[in-house]
Amino acid sequence: MPPGAQWQENAGFMTKLLASLSPEFVQRYERDLYHCSSCNYCVDAVWPERGLNHVCATMQQHTRAPGYSGRGFIEAARAILDGVPLDGDALATRVFTCTTCGNCESACPIGLRPASIGQALRRELVNAGCVPEAVGAARADIVRDGNPYGTPRGARENWAEGLAPAPGAPTVTYFAGCAAVADAAEARAGHALLAQAGAAPSLGPAACCGAALAELGCAREADALAAAAAAALRAPAAPAVVAGCECRRHLAQAAGVESAGLPGWLWSAVQSGAVAVKIKDGLGRPLRVHLLESCQLKRTARGAPATDEDAALALFAALGIEACNAGYPSAYALCCGAAGGMPRIQPQAAARMARARLPAGDIAVTVDPRCAAHLRQAARGTACAVYGFAEFVQAHCTLTPRRSGAGAQPQ
Ligand code: SF4
Ligand code: SF4
Repeated sequence: MPPGAQWQENAGFMTKLLASLSPEFVQRYERDLYHCSSCNYCVDAVWPERGLNHVCATMQQHTRAPGYSGRGFIEAARAILDGVPLDGDALATRVFTCTTCGNCESACPIGLRPASIGQALRRELVNAGCVPEAVGAARADIVRDGNPYGTPRGARENWAEGLAPAPGAPTVTYFAGCAAVADAAEARAGHALLAQAGAAPSLGPAACCGAALAELGCAREADALAAAAAAALRAPAAPAVVAGCECRRHLAQAAGVESAGLPGWLWSAVQSGAVAVKIKDGLGRPLRVHLLESCQLKRTARGAPATDEDAALALFAALGIEACNAGYPSAYALCCGAAGGMPRIQPQAAARMARARLPAGDIAVTVDPRCAAHLRQAARGTACAVYGFAEFVQAHCTLTPRRSGAGAQPQ
């Protein structure tokens, strides 16, 4: 019997129960479980002055059942710790219908960690063998093909077809990640942006970094993939520029890889005087854009380091591009549904989450390529034009290198 699991006969049927939690889980989260006051902020808080207009994308777009909320995850874990085994498959359905966005954690007024507890419950359920069919299928695809989009491994790097190697020694290693499978245009735009800014980009490893597996609770496999990708990324001397926000975070957390994101890299090159950026001649002024947050870059603590979203905002401000959403980047923005395996596990809810994030018309820009691909799909047939950061810069700006080997220190 796997760790934590237990069988129970009920009216002639055998039910697999999650009967215990690992010592690591208990050590890390026990305090949170018994400090929760069931105030419901993490379920449905609205506080306009703080930019908080509901919390949970799953509550808004999938079900109002509280067991699917951050509070529900805390109460389920507390029940198990109190000696009440829970139906593993039923709990897995709830815990895997979560975008892992972290909004419930941002909203908790006493600093508890409901989203982290949900993610840790995923790991407990995977170890206990309680895995929804869609999660098992997504895991198998990632292990076999190195991406969760169902694209065969042999076609994973098609986005880079025909890209000429930069002359001379590379000055950056560009790791596009598996979002390039879903959005080749954004991946190519990232490569072109680096080249036009005067860098000499080489391509990073043609391998999955494990971020998508980590989201599914497959921690050991995810860490092994991160270690392999990290070794390949460290092998060349050139600093890494990682396009995918979830890849960048996972590589840093699981394998200690330092890297820059594209907006941070470009803004740092502009600030240092290595690159000049201007709006293309002939474009209508003023440019106004809706900036859509990535949950991967959420800043919850005061004084947390600036992210690629701050860099994009600063660059756009310097170019005179107006951001329509004054509170950007908000720690409370509702998730677009691209993360946590949601497009594979609950595709219709994931599509509703994306549509709910789109502005009625105009231009929407996100620095996260995975969100860009997901939002673009939802925007089909609407008046909204969705851009990834690199594509937006390519379409609207000219870059002029002022000295060779521009920028490229990790931020
Ligand atoms: S992490 Fe996001 S989707 Fe999941 S329960 Fe919390 S707020 Fe809801
Ligand atoms: S986790 Fe925090 S916000 Fe959610 S019910 Fe408990 S105390 Fe309230």
